[in-house]
Amino acid sequence: MTAAVAGTGNWSITRLAQALEKKELSSEELTGAALDSIDTWEPALHAYLSQMREHALDSARASDRARLADEKVSLLSGIPIALKDVLCLENQPVTAGSRLLEGFTSPYTATAVARLKAAGMVFVGKTNCDEFAMGSSTENSGYGPTGNPWDPACSPGGSSGGSAATVAARSVPCSLGTDTGGSIRQPASLCGVVGFKPTYGRVSRYGLIAFASSLDQIGPFTRRVEDAALLYREMAGADPMDSTTLSDPVEDPVPQLSAGVAGLRLGVPREYMGSALSPGVRAAVEAAIALYQEQGAIIEEVSLPSTDLGLSTYYVIAPAECSSNLARFDGVRYGNRLPSELAPLTEMYLETRRKGFGPEVKRRIMLGTYVLSHGYYDAYYRKAQQVRSLIANEFSTVFSKVDALIAPTSPSVAFPLGAKSDALSMYMCDVLTVPVNLAGLPGISIPCGFEDGLPVGLQVIGPRLADAMVLRVAHAYEEASGWKDEAPKLPHTLTTGEAL
Ligand code: GLN
Repeated sequence: MTAAVAGTGNWSITRLAQALEKKELSSEELTGAALDSIDTWEPALHAYLSQMREHALDSARASDRARLADEKVSLLSGIPIALKDVLCLENQPVTAGSRLLEGFTSPYTATAVARLKAAGMVFVGKTNCDEFAMGSSTENSGYGPTGNPWDPACSPGGSSGGSAATVAARSVPCSLGTDTGGSIRQPASLCGVVGFKPTYGRVSRYGLIAFASSLDQIGPFTRRVEDAALLYREMAGADPMDSTTLSDPVEDPVPQLSAGVAGLRLGVPREYMGSALSPGVRAAVEAAIALYQEQGAIIEEVSLPSTDLGLSTYYVIAPAECSSNLARFDGVRYGNRLPSELAPLTEMYLETRRKGFGPEVKRRIMLGTYVLSHGYYDAYYRKAQQVRSLIANEFSTVFSKVDALIAPTSPSVAFPLGAKSDALSMYMCDVLTVPVNLAGLPGISIPCGFEDGLPVGLQVIGPRLADAMVLRVAHAYEEASGWKDEAPKLPHTLTTGEAL
């Protein structure tokens, strides 16, 4: 590591960009340090499914050349970033954490990724995740789980666990994840970083391997709220390649970030503070609420009575959509083909899917096929859609009274890998995040303290399209609290070279 990059591990994107701009630091040095840090942490974390060393260093040098030639470059130019391995980058591998896609190469680049590439960002690798983004711990990855930098024996959450872990480890300043039922906010909470899920339809999903299309949304992991705003601003906006993107103009969240919360009405949903919370999570969130109050926010208890219906609704709708989206993985066009070209066609489909998909993905495909089948559609799928509307309407009613909601992100802190062996206890991890996806709202998780040395996350939820408000409310807490500078230490076994 060169002297210039020493100590930059905790810097914000803005600060790194200033150093690049003043030529105190080159992107090549910064990227080299990121790659070295990834290598150092990988034995403990397994946060990556593939790395792009040469590709990254080439982009970094191109950014440096542009800056040296005094070309006008974006603030994000030369900043390293990691991508969840469900996002396509042309000519790079993409697996969605599935053995079925082992060895598959992206034929094109996702719009969100292309926008960051156009800004000059440097892609360092693809991060581990639950298979097809189905899970809350990364243990459903076909390539083994990821560890949490605060305690590698614990899960980083999921499904975007690798993206959260590498940012928490201070290897890269930022990464991208996806959030269908909580997969950005929950791992951000468990890893003590910022994770932002924008309003549904704000960021194009073209080039994202789809899980549940009426819920999926791409968003950033960062260590600062401001950094999340910078990445969001770059990625958001209509895209002709994704007809679900919104045409409403994107409000720039950055100028409003420091507006504070004095006079804002912040709601605390009673149902989110129920008995399922671990004591440390409750204490940290209550302290955060008090801090908001000290800053002049008006705190109001509100009610979202259908909160407890969120999970059962989600576990009808998400599997239904996944059973349709994953039908394409049959050995014909994507990834592995089993057993051979010569087998009868149906045998080839069956064997490819039997061997390629893991147990959780199979469970969801079966569940989804069932709820969509003739005779069950009305009882399950239509009913779930009705409850979904109910949940969305309850949020709308509450947002006629308050500007944003504050709540815990996850009922508990990081849990040991292997601790949640049944599907239901894993599903319960998302009880506080899933309703936000069902209603298509923006939500963020920011660090708000610790329980037994493991991070706690605070969730801020806003009305549809109030992404800037969510970031502003989160920023106010981040500024008033000191959590953003807390960083995990490299595990003892790695610093001493002891065998793992
Ligand atoms: N944990 C939830 C699930 O398993 C959410 C996943 C996600 O947001 N991608 O479906």
